[in-house]
Amino acid sequence: MKSTEVYYVRGSRCRVESLRCKECGRDYPLEARFVCDHCFGPLEVAYDFSGLEPAETRRKIQAGPQSIWRYADFLPFERPPNTALAAGVTPLVKADRLAARLGLREVWVKNDAANPTHSFKDRVVTVAIAKAQELGYDVVACASTGNLANSVAAHAAAAGLESYVFIPSDLEEQKVLATGVYGTHLVAVRGSYDDVNRLCTELSSERDWAFVNVNVRPYYAEGSKTLGYEIAEQLGWELPDRVVVPIASGSLFTKIARGFEEWLDVGLIHGELPAMNGAQAAGCSPVARAFADDESVCRPVRPDTIAKSLAIGDPADGPYALELARRSGGAIDAVSDEEARDGICLLAETTGIFTETAGGVTTAVLQRLAKRGDIDPNERVVVVITGEGLKTLDAVRGSFETYEIEPRADAFAEALESDRVPA
Ligand SMILES: *Cc1c(COP(=O)(O)O)cnc(C)c1O
Ligand SMILES: [Zn+2]
Repeated sequence: MKSTEVYYVRGSRCRVESLRCKECGRDYPLEARFVCDHCFGPLEVAYDFSGLEPAETRRKIQAGPQSIWRYADFLPFERPPNTALAAGVTPLVKADRLAARLGLREVWVKNDAANPTHSFKDRVVTVAIAKAQELGYDVVACASTGNLANSVAAHAAAAGLESYVFIPSDLEEQKVLATGVYGTHLVAVRGSYDDVNRLCTELSSERDWAFVNVNVRPYYAEGSKTLGYEIAEQLGWELPDRVVVPIASGSLFTKIARGFEEWLDVGLIHGELPAMNGAQAAGCSPVARAFADDESVCRPVRPDTIAKSLAIGDPADGPYALELARRSGGAIDAVSDEEARDGICLLAETTGIFTETAGGVTTAVLQRLAKRGDIDPNERVVVVITGEGLKTLDAVRGSFETYEIEPRADAFAEALESDRVPA
């Protein structure tokens, strides 16, 4: 197993302390490892932020690059790595027309489709690949529900690394094409994402490769915190009251909250952790079901939904997502594929943002919460849109009509009259 040394810069102590077990608290060196030898709990990066002075830290962030590396003090590197494909600093848009449709006062859309490969996965991949390079790996790989494959292939190409991406063989064609184009080794596995993930876990112990969401997962997961930092910074160093986030493995959901908590601890922002609302598709909703049943662990399911990027039947961070939703006064809801399709259209028609099926699920859950009266009309709500509509075009096929006419003005007038074109 490759390792890196803990080193010191400008006489200051390294803020990155170790990999620490989330269950028993045991420390491990900062290597490519992801599970505790003692209790099999997941490992995550542990920091000591006690030396960070809020005003100076804020100044450094504001003077930093227009990418996630502006938050380098909170990421597991001593120096921001040199990555060719920058991720992050995506738009946070105030969505007044969406808010009005839902009877809410203040809704913001965090549009993470505006990343280099059009999903939030660029945040986690850019961190994982930078770490893989630091640890000396020449080959990177992943088990993907689609967007991760897309992102790993692109970032590996930019870094000049060889890559292998493993996907379920029934993935959307747009995602397959947008991945293969980068010159990766694309492996379609006959099975579900959970089968792909099991295969990659096995392969990661046989091969000296960095699997971004397996053996370097603790670093990968850190990339998601930057979504939380950005929301707070873009709201003028304030927290929203509520955040609606899609859940696949539950990593993004829990890490956005971790980002808020770290900044509260350092004193960069003040107030309370927002209510955290998770969004799943009914056809793959192990976390939403456990939430409804008051369970603390999730029962694995076999996914059947158009929201393929969320189709993880055995979510690694499910228990932590449940704990967070309860502790923050949020919830975890599941919506049907039909509601997700309507969610895509609602977001598109009111904001001009075209999202993939995962964003349809998230928007539909926001709508559900508004209808149910869970959202106080005065709340400031952020809905996190994680991917691009052009990658899941089949979801909107048949949701509108096209009018075909001869190239003559009278033909158009006729069409108008016959009420075939809405005047
Ligand atoms: C991967 C993914 C998610 C959720 O990721 P987790 O961190 O595994 O919960 C959400 N939306 C999209 C579009 C994704 O690709
Ligand atoms: Zn442990």
